Amino acid sequence: MALATDFPRPVVWRPRRLLITRAARGFAHGRAIAARAGAAGVEVIELPGDRLTLDLPDDQRRAYAAAKATLAVTVAPPSKRRLQPIAPSADWRVDLAEGCPAHCSYCYLAGSLQGPPITRVYANLEEILAVLPDHLGRGTVTSRQRARAGEGTTFEASCYTDPLALEPLTGSLSAAIAWFGRWQAEAQLRFTTKFADVAPLLALDHGGRTRMRASINPPAFARFEGGTAPVAARLGALRQMADAGYPVGLTIAPIIAAPGWESAYGTLIDDSAAALAGARDLDLTVELITHRYTAASRAVLESWYPGSSLDMTGQDRATKRTKFGGEKQVYDAATMRALRGFFEARLATALPAARLLYWT
Ligand code: SF4
Repeated sequence: MALATDFPRPVVWRPRRLLITRAARGFAHGRAIAARAGAAGVEVIELPGDRLTLDLPDDQRRAYAAAKATLAVTVAPPSKRRLQPIAPSADWRVDLAEGCPAHCSYCYLAGSLQGPPITRVYANLEEILAVLPDHLGRGTVTSRQRARAGEGTTFEASCYTDPLALEPLTGSLSAAIAWFGRWQAEAQLRFTTKFADVAPLLALDHGGRTRMRASINPPAFARFEGGTAPVAARLGALRQMADAGYPVGLTIAPIIAAPGWESAYGTLIDDSAAALAGARDLDLTVELITHRYTAASRAVLESWYPGSSLDMTGQDRATKRTKFGGEKQVYDAATMRALRGFFEARLATALPAARLLYWT
């Protein structure tokens, strides 16, 4: 059986500078983040107002690097605190932050967030969490679907960020997990991550009301996931969380039909099964998300990662309408059938106790 200590050490992100707005300094959580960053040697810049002045270089490559190395502490306005539905993952999206320090050449944030890719974390965490009870029982996914009713009302914290990547500096995820632990309700916080430093989460009083999923891809595709933790470390972290009594899951995403995918994903599933083997009272789910992109996200990603070998040429692709009236490129029907058949069969063999939540 794999021991957590057998896995590589997790990656810890340290930004080059932290900007904190005047309003964010009015919240103890915001001040604590700035203090933690300062103690870690990060340059802390107190902005005179609430406008973010980024002063990025003109050169596109250097501007990208500077933005990715910037953490801004701001206040989420009421419009950002209004929860949005987020099928098929969960009933509602709750944003503790926006942006991510990693460099994945398929990153879905390229199509969802505007402007330079800085990371913003919100100082008014208590205000963000305070709206959640109003949404209890009101979603359309786990609140309605009989197959997922056991999860209660679900709140997804990793739509616009990777919350674990920021946790050593922010503490926002730990605070949210503890908040759900105290909330005596049929509700669940969910987050998925490509990072692995779960040490601060292990001893929290989580009450079984947070599900962590490791977002994984085969080591052979690590070239598409710059700045993230090695996949073996992510699986080791997931095992540690399972041992700490958390419900856990695998987000296999994005599934990439690059040459050799069958053998690469077969090994990944076997490695996942080995990492979780023997875990007591394991509550394990699986989510399967195939690679997709839009014309807009491809343009952004090609400017950020001009040398990436990730195929976005349109080969083996089909156009699908989005629910917002746009178009996205997904794998064509034959590729989708081959992928889906493979994953369903392989998971049923290697991880028979896992519940498959959705395929998309
Ligand atoms: S870890 Fe997730 S959010 Fe961060 S760059 Fe990669 S895909 Fe984007």
